[in-house]
Amino acid sequence: MELPVDPARLKAWDHQYLWHPFTDMQQYLAEEPLVIWRGEGIRLQDVDGRWYYDGVSSIWLNVHGHRVPELDRAIERQLARLAHSTLLGQSNVPAVMLAERLIAVAPAGLQRVFYSDSGATAVEIAVKMAIQYWYNQGMAKSKILGFTRNYHGDTVGAMAVAPDPLFHRPFLSLLPENPRVPYPYCYRCPLGETYPGCGLKCLDSVESALDQYQDELAAVIIEPVEGAGGMIPLPPGYLKRLREMTRAHDVLLIVDEVATGFGRTGSWFYCAAAGVTPDILCLAKGITGGYLPLAATLATEAVFRVFLGPPEAKKTLFHGHSYTGNALASAVALANLELMGPLMETLAEKIAAIGQGLEPLTDDPWVGDIRQAGFMVGIELVQDRQQKTPFAWERQIGWAVARRARAAGLLVRPLGSIVVFMPPLASTVEEIQEMLAILRRAIREVEEAGI
Ligand code: PMP
Repeated sequence: MELPVDPARLKAWDHQYLWHPFTDMQQYLAEEPLVIWRGEGIRLQDVDGRWYYDGVSSIWLNVHGHRVPELDRAIERQLARLAHSTLLGQSNVPAVMLAERLIAVAPAGLQRVFYSDSGATAVEIAVKMAIQYWYNQGMAKSKILGFTRNYHGDTVGAMAVAPDPLFHRPFLSLLPENPRVPYPYCYRCPLGETYPGCGLKCLDSVESALDQYQDELAAVIIEPVEGAGGMIPLPPGYLKRLREMTRAHDVLLIVDEVATGFGRTGSWFYCAAAGVTPDILCLAKGITGGYLPLAATLATEAVFRVFLGPPEAKKTLFHGHSYTGNALASAVALANLELMGPLMETLAEKIAAIGQGLEPLTDDPWVGDIRQAGFMVGIELVQDRQQKTPFAWERQIGWAVARRARAAGLLVRPLGSIVVFMPPLASTVEEIQEMLAILRRAIREVEEAGI
């Protein structure tokens, strides 16, 4: 296998022509770009021939590693038949088959699959479904209650339910006011409480918001593990209580499992393991094993039925994208689901290995909190453990660690001063140990250098 163009030219073109997502371009242009050209198992190779562990699963979505024969073959087989055909008013074979499989593995009670192409669109669709669910019944319940620091994507609807004070400030004029309540962040509990003794007092603010806005609220939307906001898992029992509260207040519950779905937290879906069926569930990322863009918004039959009616009633959900239900993406997603079954059996041992690999960090002077939800890990670095003093954002402490890790052969992308570790679920125990050894060393080196 040969590179189509020499490495120097590729890097020059990257700097000259590309505008990278979620990337500080001034900083990016000041450094030599990392250009990946192939993968093997859980590793990626750059154009200069260096190999790296894919420590954040190519942005939280790779499941079985790269160049998985079963997944490659599924695409090739489908390619021999059809690459794409629309789902608007008609169907295609892999999209139908995938919908049947998704409903089989999804939390019981979810019955309908609405496809799109990214996590953000899965959320947009969920929000529109929720609002129109009430509209179709003659009710103007159009606000969505969200949680502070939750992240649901960067399209306008997704920003509207989770506007980030840093990322989304220029666009506030586009975003309608939606109420928000604090997400439970046990390490820095604003109520000064400790779990489980707290009895989840933090749910009181949700109850108050539901009381206050009940007549205007279409839905509550939540991430079961706050991802981009800092890798913060919900305390056990929280989601179940929230489900009960939304029912009691006649408000829909949307759970965003874009990041947590498909085994990431150790079970197929967080909400099923928590004994919860939401009214609407958002899925993306791991749905194709990390191969092709595809997303799905799942709804209960009760939600779906409200969209049925004669043409003059105009109950249709008027939402669709050109590539919705793409045949190649659906085919690889089907193959992914087939591989997921046996993979699930192996996760407990690997999750324990991640926990063991993190243990040496518990006494580290800079490590304030270690949060693990299965294969989702956030290591919060602090200036002072006693006071939990955060590092100033400008110090880019997480990036300092990521740079050291990269030099040692592990790719990770931090969230401010939170070091993220989210390897593919197919990583072996040995690979997990090796990756975490690199990460621990990187943290120590940054501490020693005092960056
Ligand atoms: N929801 C959650 C919970 C996410 O983690 C993300 C992406 N990190 C999104 C939505 C948006 O997904 P996408 O980047 O595919 O639009």
